[in-house]
Amino acid sequence: MAKIVILGAGIAGQAAVTLLRKKLPRKHEIVMISPNEEWNWVPSNIWVGVGIMGAEQVCFPLAPLYERIGVEFRVGAATAIHPEGDASSSRPFVEYVPAGTGGETRRESFDFLVNATGPKLNFGATPGLGPGEGGHSWSVCTAEHAVEASAAFLEAVERMKRGEEQTFVVGMGHGSCTCEGAAFEYVLNVEHELKRHGVREKGRIVFVTNEPELGDFGVGGLFLRHEGYVTPSHFFAESLFTERGIEWVKGANVMEVGPGRLAWESPDGSEGELTHDFAMLLPPFAGVGLQAYDRNGEDLTDRLFAPSGFQRVDADYGAKAFGEWSPRDWPETYQSPHDPRLFAVGIAFAPPHPVSRPIRTPRGHTYGPTVPRTGMTAAVMGATVAESIADLVRKGPEAPLHRNPFATMAVACVASAGAGFRLGSAATITMYPLVPDYERYEYGRDLESTTGEIGLAGHWLKYLLHYLFLYKARCRPGWSLIPE
Ligand SMILES: Cc1cc2nc3c(=O)[nH]c(=O)nc-3n(C[C@H](O)[C@H](O)[C@H](O)COP(=O)(O)OP(=O)(O)OC[C@H]3O[C@@H](n4cnc5c(N)ncnc54)[C@H](O)[C@@H]3O)c2cc1C
Repeated sequence: MAKIVILGAGIAGQAAVTLLRKKLPRKHEIVMISPNEEWNWVPSNIWVGVGIMGAEQVCFPLAPLYERIGVEFRVGAATAIHPEGDASSSRPFVEYVPAGTGGETRRESFDFLVNATGPKLNFGATPGLGPGEGGHSWSVCTAEHAVEASAAFLEAVERMKRGEEQTFVVGMGHGSCTCEGAAFEYVLNVEHELKRHGVREKGRIVFVTNEPELGDFGVGGLFLRHEGYVTPSHFFAESLFTERGIEWVKGANVMEVGPGRLAWESPDGSEGELTHDFAMLLPPFAGVGLQAYDRNGEDLTDRLFAPSGFQRVDADYGAKAFGEWSPRDWPETYQSPHDPRLFAVGIAFAPPHPVSRPIRTPRGHTYGPTVPRTGMTAAVMGATVAESIADLVRKGPEAPLHRNPFATMAVACVASAGAGFRLGSAATITMYPLVPDYERYEYGRDLESTTGEIGLAGHWLKYLLHYLFLYKARCRPGWSLIPE
């Protein structure tokens, strides 16, 4: 009988836990440890953040689902991994702090561990960033954050209805942020909603991004086939913004967010500043701070985890200059090189390096967008690792691992540009491979599979995906037929 512990009931963790439960008979124990009692379909937080969906439409409670499918659920946050056990037993275990116990730790032993803890939302990296105490901006990273953002957004709309002019700033709250696509969607939805509320002419909208060019998205930009032409993604993104009257600041390393203002450093070393009435700025991500110890209690954290706090997997972490980066640096199995029983998926795995060329300022700061580990890639990694662990349990330790190279994943991204059955639209971008490969493709990617279109059909697809992925995550009949 095997015991598998999954840390983190997010997009990657849910893909892993549900597939493992489907693949393995009930005699094998599957335990989920996660601080959130509800599952959140994060992509639809965009719509919560402009007030057109409630949190209850993007979340559902996990305990009844796990009880139905036979997963033990420990509501709490993992703090440390002990892959060799301790002085009293060589059985590996993970320590966690159950919710509501005031810090008392508990142990859960395991035969296999999947780290799917996602990001620590590192608002502390920029003074004044974030919705918490001392913060002056909003976020849509969690459903709770999105509810708060929508209240502030709708207050700004009310002020506009009373005749006031308002400035909306949306973007990235630090030079090293990832997830530019999420901010891109949110700004398009802000613009769409201002129009729908009849106040667009009273609003200035500015997108502030760490991307060297709009449309970089942390993947070094892309050339895509659009209406029969090969178009660089910055043209595509710039035209979307231009036709909607959205201004942009690119290459910005946001240094400070104050009440009603924000300041950034530009690639040429100059400083910029903006005043705003509403700011939604995403934070940079870090690992959630898991520690690791050997059986004698010696600290293994530096061996299991990168300095960013993300877990090292089967990637090439050797220091290399931009020109030496290769698609082969990226992982395939998501297994820890330190211990074959440990895996990390989704945002929790440590990328070997960015994909976009880093920006270096005359002041010596280096920053730039980091590669997005989107919902789709997170779920694919979760499912790949679930297949591997199921085989290791059923066939023994010699069973080959399933491989799904991160670099060659095909990505489909439907970026909402505004909701509405008749007037909504979304940009549908497909991309293959995720990490550009200039040895194989003239433009880094296969132009047959790398495309971009915007239109109403995209909105319908986005809306359909919202329901499909919530349906799949709830393990409703036929759920496993829906692809990640
Ligand atoms: C606003 C927004 C919109 C987005 N839109 C899209 C989109 O349209 N398409 C797309 O593909 N991607 C989108 N993304 C990205 C997508 O949401 C992420 O890639 C995805 O959520 C990553 O999955 P994950 O499982 O790695 O992390 P998460 O989904 O964040 O899950 C991590 C889980 O780990 C838990 N956890 C945290 N700490 C611990 C701990 N110590 N112990 C145990 N558990 C812990 C968390 O509570 C959470 O449940 C969007 C992201 C944002 C923020």
